Amino acid sequence: MIVIMNNETTDAHIDAVVQRLKGWGLGSNVSRGVERTVIGAIGDESKIDKELLQALPGVEQVIRVMKPYKIVARSYHQEDTVIDIKGIKLGGKQIQVIGGPCSVETQAQMDEAAKGVVAAGCSMMRGGAFKPRTSPYTFQGAGVEGLDMFRKAADKYKLPIVTELMDVRQIDAFLQYDVDVIQIGTRNMQNFDLLKEVGRLHKPVILKRGMAATISEWLMAAEYIAAGGNHDIIFCERGVRSFETYYRNMLDVTAIPVLKKETHLPVIIDPSHAGGKAWMVPALARAAVAAGADGLLVEMHPNPCEAWCDADQALNPQELIDLMASLRGIAQAIGREL
Ligand code: PEP
Ligand code: MN
Repeated sequence: MIVIMNNETTDAHIDAVVQRLKGWGLGSNVSRGVERTVIGAIGDESKIDKELLQALPGVEQVIRVMKPYKIVARSYHQEDTVIDIKGIKLGGKQIQVIGGPCSVETQAQMDEAAKGVVAAGCSMMRGGAFKPRTSPYTFQGAGVEGLDMFRKAADKYKLPIVTELMDVRQIDAFLQYDVDVIQIGTRNMQNFDLLKEVGRLHKPVILKRGMAATISEWLMAAEYIAAGGNHDIIFCERGVRSFETYYRNMLDVTAIPVLKKETHLPVIIDPSHAGGKAWMVPALARAAVAAGADGLLVEMHPNPCEAWCDADQALNPQELIDLMASLRGIAQAIGREL
C-alpha cells in the first residue's frame, strides 16, 4: 500500500499515518519529496483498512499494490485449475458445453431436452427449477418438483446437472437431489451471505457475473466462496448492461483474457442471456471459444415457441447440433477439443 500525502501535510499528519500502520503491525518507509511525501507500507497489506487510512488528515490518496483477492488469483496458483464434475473435466483442453432449457417445465419437456443435449454432444445439462423473474406474476419455476424432474431426465443419459440456487433455504433440496453444479445467477453475484453458504459446500459453483459488476467485484465475489473452503468455482460471463437496446446484454469477450490472466479458475460464456435472441447465439458462442473460453452455457428447448421462460433466445435441438459442429473447427484451430 502506498499513501500519498497532500501538499498541506505536516509532520504530525505523517506521524499519524506511521502510527496507524504500526498499529496494524506494518512498518513504513517515508519518502519526502519536494512537492509530496509518500509513505510506503511494509508488511501484510490485508491488515490495512484502506478507508481508515484515507480518512486521516493530510492523506491525499491510498493506492493498493497487492490484489485484494488471494485464493482465486493466478498468483496463488499458477496452473489452470481443472474442475472434475462427475468425471467431466472443465478448465482443461476439452471445451465443455452445457445445454438445456432456461427452466424446468414438465417431465416430458426435460426428457426431450436431455435427449437433445446428448444428441448434440454436450457434456452437461442446465435448467432452472428456481427462477429469478423480473415480474412476480410470471412463472417462478417448478421448485423442488422441478429438481426431481431434472434429476430423472438427466439420470437417463448420465448427464451432470447445473441449476440455479437463489436462497439458502433451497440448499437442503439441492443436496437431496445431488445437484452437480450450483449456479449463482447474475442477480445474486453479490449476495454475500448466499456466497458464504455455498463456500461451505463441496459442490462446483458457476458464478455468473453481476449484470453491472466490474471484473474486480466479480473476483471478490468468487473470493467469498473460496474463503469458505470451496475452491471449485467457474466464472460465467453472461453479458453486462449497456446503453445498447438492440440486444439483451453486451457480451464482454474481453473479460475472457482478463480473467485468464487474473485467475486460475475456469471461465465459461453464456451467449444466450447475452444476445437474448437465438439467432445471435452461434456468433457469440464462436467468439467465446476463439477468445479462450473453457466452456459454454447454452439455452436449448425442445420447442422454443412453447418455452415458459426466455423463449426468444432458446435454440431448438437441431440448432444446438449445428452450433456444436461449427464450434469444433474453431476449438481445433486454437489447439483445443470440443
Ligand atoms: C439463467 O441462466 O437462466 C439465468 C437466469 O441467467 P442470469 O442469471 O445470467 O440472468
Ligand atoms: Mn434464461
